[in-house]
Amino acid sequence: MKAIGVTRDGDEPELLEIERPEPADGEALVRTLRVGVDGTDHEVIAGAHGGYPEGEDYMILGHEAVGVVADPNGTGLEEGQVVVPTVRRKPDGETNEYFRRGEPDMAPDGEYFERGIVGAHGYMAEYFTSPADYLVPISEDLAEYGLFVEPISITEKANEHAFATREPFEWRPETACVLGNGSLGLLTLWMLGQQFDRTYCVGRRDRPDPTIDVIEELGATYVDSRQTSVDEIPEAHEAIDYMYEATGFAPHAIETVHALAPNGVGALLGIPEPWDFEVDGGSLHNELVLHNKCLVGTVNSHVKHFEYAIDTLEDMPEWLLDGLITTVAEPENVTPAFVDDDDQIKAVVEFDTL
Ligand code: NDP
Ligand code: ZN
Repeated sequence: MKAIGVTRDGDEPELLEIERPEPADGEALVRTLRVGVDGTDHEVIAGAHGGYPEGEDYMILGHEAVGVVADPNGTGLEEGQVVVPTVRRKPDGETNEYFRRGEPDMAPDGEYFERGIVGAHGYMAEYFTSPADYLVPISEDLAEYGLFVEPISITEKANEHAFATREPFEWRPETACVLGNGSLGLLTLWMLGQQFDRTYCVGRRDRPDPTIDVIEELGATYVDSRQTSVDEIPEAHEAIDYMYEATGFAPHAIETVHALAPNGVGALLGIPEPWDFEVDGGSLHNELVLHNKCLVGTVNSHVKHFEYAIDTLEDMPEWLLDGLITTVAEPENVTPAFVDDDDQIKAVVEFDTL
């Protein structure tokens, strides 16, 4: 079967011809429909994040997938059912307390594999296998957009964790700000627009730009970080109750604290490499304490968040989902899917249709 992967001696995604996988006990075989590409895939291709499956000289890419059950293999799934796979798997098939508790998203580094990212093949192939417990059913009507479930689930988890920190008191947030106008940022901007009165999105681009068009179409205010730094947002606009960082730009983690309104919370999603810069640690410490502020780091998601994400996806307008998909590539010619310029928001590799 066809698969798209990176090899230890190559530096670009390649079309590979490999054997179709056989489902083990408890696993189903899935025929892949579509797989999305995101910032993490670019980091994996560049060798900046993740790692190859042990003993393999290639890794199949892709962790944002939707497919159809081709062989339920005695699991409770049905042939023809549309499903979305979660990403984390037991390392070397060995379970641990996080998987036993159904919270693999809370496992520390080394206690999990991530399909298409670290230690395990991804979903960018004509077929893949997965434990049935990690395949979340989705309605046929949403199949075309199913690749958005994984990124939306990331924000479902981030919001769940961030808002939980505000539960002990009467929090009445009005404003939210997303840092980053990539696909994760734009999906999140729509989600926060459903809950907050006023939303902002921070980028670093000139108009005309397709992501700024989406931001404005969503009724949010575009903030250019080259003109207004994140810690200046309260002065230039207003203080923000919920900050959501999706840039990977490390100074934003610190600036987020200064952009927050008293009693606000910030969720950090970016995954920067080591980065030295100067910080006024006293003011940071003081702000967090005297204004009851909170910063939450969050990574990955699990089945429950995928289920919330499917509900969210159902409500998302088609113009937005269609507008976010800027490239649909076929496996025989994937190059356009890995172009990472300002016109690209979400690229998709399409293996099959329903
Ligand atoms: P993208 O690379 O597509 O998006 C990042 C966006 O941030 C880009 O649009 C970029 O703008 C913008 N940006 C970067 N620096 C600045 C800055 N200084 N000021 C304003 N805008 C800036 O990635 P994704 O949307 O896929 O993901 C966003 C981040 O979240 C990434 O860091 C990714 O690694 C992380 N991530 C984390 C997950 C988790 O579980 N914690 C899951 C998925 C992703 P431009 O394009 O103009 O350079
Ligand atoms: Zn991702």
